[in-house]
Amino acid sequence: MSDPALVEVRDLTVDYVGDNSVARAVNGISFDIKAGEAFGLAGESGCGKSTVAFALARLTRMPGLVTGGEVRFNGENVLAFSKDRLRRYRWGEVSFVFQSAMNALNPVIPVSEQIEDGIVAHRPHLGREAVRARAAEMFELVGISPRRLDDYPHQFSGGMRQRICIAMALALEPKLIIMDEPTTALDVVVQRDIIEQICDLKARFGFSVLFITHDLGLMIEFCDRIGVMYAGELVEVAPASSILTAPQHPYTRALGRSFPPLTGPRVRLEGIEGTPPSLSALPGGCRFSPRCGEAIPICMTRVPLLQPTPVTGGQAACHLLK
Ligand code: ADP
Ligand code: MG
Repeated sequence: MSDPALVEVRDLTVDYVGDNSVARAVNGISFDIKAGEAFGLAGESGCGKSTVAFALARLTRMPGLVTGGEVRFNGENVLAFSKDRLRRYRWGEVSFVFQSAMNALNPVIPVSEQIEDGIVAHRPHLGREAVRARAAEMFELVGISPRRLDDYPHQFSGGMRQRICIAMALALEPKLIIMDEPTTALDVVVQRDIIEQICDLKARFGFSVLFITHDLGLMIEFCDRIGVMYAGELVEVAPASSILTAPQHPYTRALGRSFPPLTGPRVRLEGIEGTPPSLSALPGGCRFSPRCGEAIPICMTRVPLLQPTPVTGGQAACHLLK
């Protein structure tokens, strides 16, 4: 079969449990990431993107709790992994690059040691020389001279530190790299540079990527498919190329209007009127209906289900599609 799914997410539900309340941050979402595919998660801040990313890596921590659904990786049930299996899964099969990753490097330890420790933990049979060689190879891969391996984190620029984190994420040849706002703290030129480099590496090694960024333009360029989230739910999944040209959900259209075009004349950005609902006071029916300029009465009362959208070959959840 072509395009087997590497990751299958089914009805994933994640809650944040408070003393007297429960906030359902992710409400039964389903999507696949295929082998070698870059899948993006878009949506305004607070819609649940990071919560999904953490759940995929089995990094959900209290007060967060996965309360429903499944995550399958190569057909295996990730949520049922033993401690030992989980250790191999994390970094060995799935690795993570966060926005703050570059600050996660320990400032008092040379970078080489931090990379090498990670390799040794997962490849205990490798000798010292081989581990060192692998670390040097990873440095070269992300465009940093291996001569700088023994430098300390503060001796590198922010962009270089983020490259080092990417090198660490790639060192064990994972099948999936989760990048949650990986370059947000960097300037635009460095951002693009790093993303292009990850594109090259992806083409060479064939790993899959789950990419989260608020930069819709960058996401469209880098990703094959994009899932658009709103208030904890997926409202549309579509090829990246149709997110701007054939958006099927009113929220996808609104997102598209609120981001600056890469080319052409400057236009006034509309933004999206209003704010996403609080998880403790969700509207009835479609969660986007109070902000939707196209809403009709049924939108306020009935929850729209994700359904195939022949125009894009994807799916969207909107009553107007019928
Ligand atoms: P995004 O990454 O799309 O900005 P998040 O996944 O971080 O969104 O957050 C989704 C929702 O879950 C938000 O309403 C946020 O306030 C809530 N949330 C996230 N982390 C926690 C936490 N540790 N405790 C309580 N609520 C949280
Ligand atoms: Mg986030």
